[in-house]
Amino acid sequence: MSDTVRDLVLYNARVRTLAAPSAAEAIVVRDGRIAAVGDGADLLRASNGRATRVDLGGRTVVPGFNDAHAHIWKIGHLLTSMLDLRRATSVDAIVDDVRRFADRAGQGAWVLGRGYNEARLRERRAPTRVDLDRASPRVPVVLTRTCGHIYAVNSAALARAGIGAGTDAPPGGVIDRDDRGEPTGLLHETAMGLVNRVMPPPTAADYARMIAAALGHQLSLGITSSSDCGVAAPILAVYRALDADGALPSRVNVMPLGKPDGALSAAPLPERFVSERLRVDTVKFLADGGLSGATAALSVDYRHAPHKGVLRFDREELEALCRESHDAGWRIATHAIGDVAIDQVLSIYEGLDGAPPRRAHRVEHFGLPTAEHLARAAALGVIAAPQAIFIRSLGPNFRRYLADALLPRTYPIRAMLDAGVRVALSSDAPVVEDDNPLAGMAAAVTRRDSDGELIAPEQAITIAEALRGYTVGGAVASGDDDNRGTIEPGKWADLAVLSEDPLAAEPDALPAIAVDMTIVGGSIVHER
Ligand SMILES: [Zn+2]
Repeated sequence: MSDTVRDLVLYNARVRTLAAPSAAEAIVVRDGRIAAVGDGADLLRASNGRATRVDLGGRTVVPGFNDAHAHIWKIGHLLTSMLDLRRATSVDAIVDDVRRFADRAGQGAWVLGRGYNEARLRERRAPTRVDLDRASPRVPVVLTRTCGHIYAVNSAALARAGIGAGTDAPPGGVIDRDDRGEPTGLLHETAMGLVNRVMPPPTAADYARMIAAALGHQLSLGITSSSDCGVAAPILAVYRALDADGALPSRVNVMPLGKPDGALSAAPLPERFVSERLRVDTVKFLADGGLSGATAALSVDYRHAPHKGVLRFDREELEALCRESHDAGWRIATHAIGDVAIDQVLSIYEGLDGAPPRRAHRVEHFGLPTAEHLARAAALGVIAAPQAIFIRSLGPNFRRYLADALLPRTYPIRAMLDAGVRVALSSDAPVVEDDNPLAGMAAAVTRRDSDGELIAPEQAITIAEALRGYTVGGAVASGDDDNRGTIEPGKWADLAVLSEDPLAAEPDALPAIAVDMTIVGGSIVHER
């Protein structure tokens, strides 16, 4: 992809290399990689006369951002054909939106929506089958909660899935029921799989459109590499085809899902594959649910409900799957938020053999580790992929749902770094709407939620640490740090040009910094 690209010289810039030396004025790019970093006048003189020279007028260059944990095709689904409910403020408004979509739905189509959060709805409850039947009595409706771990569906969808008063939930799932034992339409965790099995799947062309829309969106945010955490085989096939066609505009770490919801057994591991744009060498498992939906597995009851969340696997099954993946050479990324899930995953990782240096496995989210968990994670070399942006967008849920003893431990990124755990920051988009890395950095530094309340402020990190978390941290988490994450000769020229220097900004001003240019492999792929 880069052989026809002319050399590029970026000069008159404030280059934040995140390496030694930490600052420079110019970058020379050759064949998609960084050839030199240093003094502007020297590099201009030394550069090839045919090089494209770009005067950055004093603007700042940082390594391209990495979103270590996102759901790329789902971001694209919302950008293309899905009903976006992330700004919905009432159940009534959701009913109106669903009705509009249902009226337009073609033959055989379902209405799919995503992003409702009952904490943000006037009625303070999730939409139910009864609400959704008002909007759409015949067309099946499936609305995914903001966390991705709960569905709200109408009667038509329940009927297609064969879910009635007598249906047992699969292990690791809950079919919510009313006083008479009838399903309310709310399906938790693996019970979502009962619906997934009967939903008409998107076509390969649909997936390709979703991926293109999402990666284009990420490039506008300066994101030059990201992860699609947990995809099924048909989506992986689309990524492989896009990569073979040279059609991936940025670098993607695609993680196959080890055990899809609703599946009775694990999916077979696909072929491991690494090219310049596509990595398929990390397998994803989910040990529990989410905090905001109160399905993360905790050692104490939630504040608002007399239960402790759910573990999705019994230990023996997850251990066997992890061992199989580990022995086959895969990196493992396991979603674990609650302290009980974190304990399960760390104890399984501790039992995986292998001589040092061991392949570093990942814990996604790592929401409520204890000090003991942090020490064990550091000793194992585990890489944590937490979402500071949750503090801002889900903080009101955390305050409502978590016991006082847990709140100071929520997403303790300061403590992770201090314990020696390597941290890759990320958005988990579309779980949260705002996947701007600069907004994630601001949340990591301020710890302020959308109501202005502080969530565990002693867990704040510095802007420099947050920038590392969104760049080199993500490169380490993907095993790609030889090629990217810092601005050094030999690495890919994956860069973001910013209107201002984040390292000199007030934390609250970070989200307003503009991404003026995004460069992948030396090609300018986005310009404001
Ligand atoms: Zn996720």
